[in-house]
Amino acid sequence: HSSDRVFNFAAGPATLPENVLRRAQSELYNWRGSGMSVMEMSHRGKEFLSIIQKAESDLRTLLEIPTEYSVLFLQGGATTQFAAVPLNICKSDDAVDHIVTGSWSDKAFKEAQKYCKPNVIWSGKSEKYTKIPSFDDLKQNPEARFLHICANETIHGVEFKNYPTPKNQNGILVADMSSNFCSKPVDVSKFGLIYAGAQKNVGPSGVTIVIVRNDLIGNAQGLTPVMLDYKIHAENNSLYNTPPCYGIYMCGLVFEDLLEQGGLVEVEKKNRKKAEILYQAIDESNGFFRCPVEKSVRSFMNVPFTLEKSELEGEFIKEAAKENMVQLKGHRSVGGMRASIYNAMPLAGVEKLVAFMKDFQAKHA
Ligand code: PLP
Repeated sequence: HSSDRVFNFAAGPATLPENVLRRAQSELYNWRGSGMSVMEMSHRGKEFLSIIQKAESDLRTLLEIPTEYSVLFLQGGATTQFAAVPLNICKSDDAVDHIVTGSWSDKAFKEAQKYCKPNVIWSGKSEKYTKIPSFDDLKQNPEARFLHICANETIHGVEFKNYPTPKNQNGILVADMSSNFCSKPVDVSKFGLIYAGAQKNVGPSGVTIVIVRNDLIGNAQGLTPVMLDYKIHAENNSLYNTPPCYGIYMCGLVFEDLLEQGGLVEVEKKNRKKAEILYQAIDESNGFFRCPVEKSVRSFMNVPFTLEKSELEGEFIKEAAKENMVQLKGHRSVGGMRASIYNAMPLAGVEKLVAFMKDFQAKHA
C-alpha cells in the first residue's frame, strides 16, 4: 500500500487493488502493443474480443460457473436488474417470493411490483434489519416463480452465510450479490440467477454482471426493452450494442488478480480475518462501539457501527480522515459509521482502523 494512497472504506465505488490500478496505468496509452487505449478500441475488434473473452473465462474459473449458465456483462447497475429479473423470468401475473433483509432487498421488491406479483415472505424491518430469517420458518409459496434474496445488505451489514432452498414451482433462487460478489466461493448451481454491480469487489461502476441459467433465458415479457432482454445479450455474447468496454477490461484485471491470489478460497480467508479483527474490536470495547447486527450474520464486507456517545461520531470520522482513513460515514439512512472492507482493502487498512478506534476510545472514555 503506497503512502500517497488513502485507506478508502467507501461502500462503492470502492477501493481497487493497487497492482491492478498500476497495471491499467501502464497499459492506458498503448494496450499491449496495439497502439490504442482500451478506451479507444472497437468493441468488435480482435483486441477487445480477447479482453471480454478472457474476463468471462477467468470469472467462470473463479466461481466454477457451470456450462449451462450464461455470463452477461451489462449496464444500468443492479438497480436495472430489479426490473430485468422479473421481466425476463416471470409473466406479469406470476407470484414471486421476496425475503427483505434490508434496504436493497426492499428496493428489489418494490421494483418487482411493476412487473409481477411479488410477496414479502419475511421482513427484518421491525428489527431494524439486523437479522437473516431461520430458513425453517419461511413460508414459501409453492406457486411462486422464484425466491429473491439480497446476499449481502450493503447498508445494514447483514449477510447470508448459507442460502435457503427455494420451494417454488421451479426451484429458482435469485440473488443480488452486488456487495459480496467474488468475496468467497459460491455454489452457483444453487441459483437460477445471480446479479451484481461491479463497483464494490470487482471493478469500476458501469458494469453489471448477470449469471443466469440458460433455461431461464428466452421468455421475457413482450414489453421488455431490448437492453434488458437476457436472450439478446446472451446470443450476442454481451456485444449486442456497445458494452462498457473499459469497465469490463478493469473487471478482467481484477479477476486475474483474484486468481493469482489463489482464487476465492484464499480471498475468503483474508476477508474473514479482516472482518474478525474489526468485529472483535467493536465487541471488546465495552459498549463504546456497537454493531447492531446479530453476530452469526454479520457481513464480512460492510461493517456498520455506532458510538455509545453518538455526539462523537462526527469527530471520529473527521479524525480518521486526518489519518488517511476515509469514507467511514454510515449511509445517510442509518447514520453512525460503516467500514466497507471489500476484497481490495488490505489487512493493514483494517489494522490501522482498529488501532485508531482503540486510541479514540482511550481519549474519550
Ligand atoms: N444492491 C446492492 C446490494 C447494492 O449495494 C447496491 C448499490 O450500492 C445496489 C443494489 C444498487 O446498485 P447500482 O447503484 O449499481 O444500481
